[in-house]
Amino acid sequence: MVDADQTFVIVGGGLAGAKAAETLRAEGFSGRVILICDERDHPYERPPLSKGYLLGKEERDSVFVHEPAWYAQNDIELHLGQTVDAIDRTAKTVRFGEDGTVVRYDKLLLATGAEPRRLDIPGTDLAGVHHLRRLAHAERLKGVLASLGRDNGHIVIAGAGWIGLEVAAAAREYGAEVTVVEPEPTPLHGVLGPELGALFAELHREHGVRFRFGVRLTEIVGQDGVVLAARTDDGEEHPAHDVLAAIGAAPRVALAEAAGLEMADRAYGGGVAVDEHLRTSDPDIYAAGDVAAFPHALFDTRLRVEHWANALNGGPAAAKAMLGQQVTYDRVPYFFSDQYDLGMEYSGWAPPGSYDQVVIRGDAGKREFIAFWLREGRVLAGMNVNVWDVTEPIQNLIRSQAQVDSEALADPHVPLADLIP
Ligand SMILES: Cc1cc2nc3c(=O)[nH]c(=O)nc-3n(C[C@H](O)[C@H](O)[C@H](O)COP(=O)(O)OP(=O)(O)OC[C@H]3O[C@@H](n4cnc5c(N)ncnc54)[C@H](O)[C@@H]3O)c2cc1C
Repeated sequence: MVDADQTFVIVGGGLAGAKAAETLRAEGFSGRVILICDERDHPYERPPLSKGYLLGKEERDSVFVHEPAWYAQNDIELHLGQTVDAIDRTAKTVRFGEDGTVVRYDKLLLATGAEPRRLDIPGTDLAGVHHLRRLAHAERLKGVLASLGRDNGHIVIAGAGWIGLEVAAAAREYGAEVTVVEPEPTPLHGVLGPELGALFAELHREHGVRFRFGVRLTEIVGQDGVVLAARTDDGEEHPAHDVLAAIGAAPRVALAEAAGLEMADRAYGGGVAVDEHLRTSDPDIYAAGDVAAFPHALFDTRLRVEHWANALNGGPAAAKAMLGQQVTYDRVPYFFSDQYDLGMEYSGWAPPGSYDQVVIRGDAGKREFIAFWLREGRVLAGMNVNVWDVTEPIQNLIRSQAQVDSEALADPHVPLADLIP
């Protein structure tokens, strides 16, 4: 039983942190809940920052997880614009804010998320070099894309991952010229592999995006603080007024590392190592969302999932575990993306090297299909493109680990549920 005198502290006010606070109250926890975040904005969701909000189609107010008044109404002690800079595991305290306030915790949740990786090349200090993680970044980028669109300006995007591609789509909708520089041979290579990555390259080319694959940025050339061009390691110079570094995110582990918590191997994407109950190597400290690396029995590996659904479900799962409930966090990883008129959802985990077959159900030419990645006849992952309401059967197929007949899998007339014996 959890005592009403207990204090639960949550570090990080992203989706995972905010949902954990909500769950503690929903599950009847009546002790103190302290939520500390270094951002000044109330907890918000990040997906619109590279889609609807960036495009000016969604209002700023629509991105917040809860109304500002919700926190006080639910007796959540919210400390915004304050960084937690130390955890003392012996005293069970955290220290935060400029005045070094110290609070004692009974249970602590680390939901510190991730931060954009930086380009380590000359010229990154120029004013026209951008990252996209925070609301303020999106606000700034929105203005940049609008003015590039008006003036036929040019943006170079380093990285053809999800954020790079979504911003490329937004930039084209504003009318900006776009060059995407990517060291791999196709976009989204590390997630989708070359087969489906090529489809995204085609989609963007149709909308006027230029790609430079197999090369890296080596320098951002500028004068008087202004970006003029971007150079790649093949010696080419690409015109640019602005550059977006979209080369991935790194988990924010410094606090956990300094506290001596066990870290996940970098080969698994790093992060704070947790068990299937989202508990770290310290039994009173939990981690969830982008920062946590949890063991996934289905894929027989430790996973760190940098996606919305993992924060949405992981925060509540950690909160329940903190309350002493029996929780096993074993969700099938899921994410979504929207680019131009293509909407997709992906369930599972099948990076290149893990699968030996790709099966398409539907019409890839028309971009209305489901792609499946298989190993030895078992479905590891599925991606539905402009086909909806199939996430559950796809995830059931993955969970079942059933041997499937690839002809039946490719046939849209065979219900997916019928493939599970
Ligand atoms: C532009 C963009 C678009 C995205 N689009 C999609 C999408 O379409 N689909 C999808 O599935 N996923 C998407 N994602 C990923 C998704 O948003 C993340 O997985 C999710 O935000 C992770 O939530 P989190 O709570 O774990 O971490 P975060 O959202 O990163 O929140 C962590 C918070 O903790 C704060 N913090 C860190 N350290 C400290 C500290 N020491 N003290 C105080 N505060 C601290 C951080 O500043 C941050 O506010 C997108 C991400 C971005 C950036």
